[in-house]
Amino acid sequence: MSDVVLEVRDLVKHYPVRRGLILRRTVGAVRAVDGVSLALRRGSTLGVVGESGSGKSTLARVLVGIEEPTSGQVLVDGTDVSTMSRADRRALRRDVQMVFQDPYTSLDPRMSVSEIVGEPFAIHRTIPRGGRDRAVRELLELVGLDPDHANRYPHQFSGGQRQRVGIARALALRPRILVCDEPVSALDVSVQGQVVNLLADLQAELGLSSVFIAHDLAVVRNIADSVAVMYLGRVVEDGPADSVYDGARHPYSQALLSAVPVADPTVRLSDGRGILLEGDPPSPVSPPSGCPFHTRCWLAPTLPEASVPVPEGEEVQARRVPPSCSGEVPLLVGAGGHHAACHFARPLAEVRR
Ligand code: SF4
Repeated sequence: MSDVVLEVRDLVKHYPVRRGLILRRTVGAVRAVDGVSLALRRGSTLGVVGESGSGKSTLARVLVGIEEPTSGQVLVDGTDVSTMSRADRRALRRDVQMVFQDPYTSLDPRMSVSEIVGEPFAIHRTIPRGGRDRAVRELLELVGLDPDHANRYPHQFSGGQRQRVGIARALALRPRILVCDEPVSALDVSVQGQVVNLLADLQAELGLSSVFIAHDLAVVRNIADSVAVMYLGRVVEDGPADSVYDGARHPYSQALLSAVPVADPTVRLSDGRGILLEGDPPSPVSPPSGCPFHTRCWLAPTLPEASVPVPEGEEVQARRVPPSCSGEVPLLVGAGGHHAACHFARPLAEVRR
């Protein structure tokens, strides 16, 4: 059996933009995921990182089957999900489960924890009614909650405890793959580490393979075996976690790393300053030409190849960007032990400003 348990190949997910009240015309598309290829190795954790709007959550929803891809493939154990029978897809739903971002909205406040965690048993009929209470208690114990609290309601738990309830529910069907969509971003910093550690322990104990999505590189640092950095629906850097963290080559990853609150001089510029990302990501409806990051890239204007294509007398100066940055989409190619999609990929230590 292959080492890869979950793979996406050239995955695209676009949402049509429609105008008109009566004759709804399609006038464009939100390019949420725009040609992503990734692989999750058995028993490992793949961290997927990027700002909001980078397409991470859409990717997660496609991975668990909540959304259908526009094109591309999702393969589980080497089999293309789109070619599976209905019965196989239904079985697959049990195998790939999701932990949602917000434990405050993902749990129905009218249901007791026992009902929430036991719901998958009822839907998939994996455990007879008489055995469900016991199975729920075991799950609550597994995630560090008091089984005697099974009859309480979500509002009677703290944020961290609610997320544990969400994890228990995701584990109810004994999945092989867990897709965690920003599972700690809605939690206090003080409990984020506890939930990350719980997920790491469960992964080791149950032999799970996980996709862990976060907007903060620091969150996945201690749990990810490999990392993919996404920007505007594309992967701009990926590879083994150590290689990406120790030698990021893409200016976007370097900026995200620079924002991590650590006193690590390797994620600072040569003059000791951190890298500030200016502005918001461009709209995924009309992404920039060439490199999608060129409108915010801190490196491009410093390159000797950068030009100022502005006629004399213009009041607003165009951003200095090499023509290759604004004109050619950089491919994800090997760079320093992993992959980066930048025409000028280089370690931060080699950048001189
Ligand atoms: Fe920046 Fe150019 Fe590299 Fe894109 S290709 S990340 S704009 S230097």
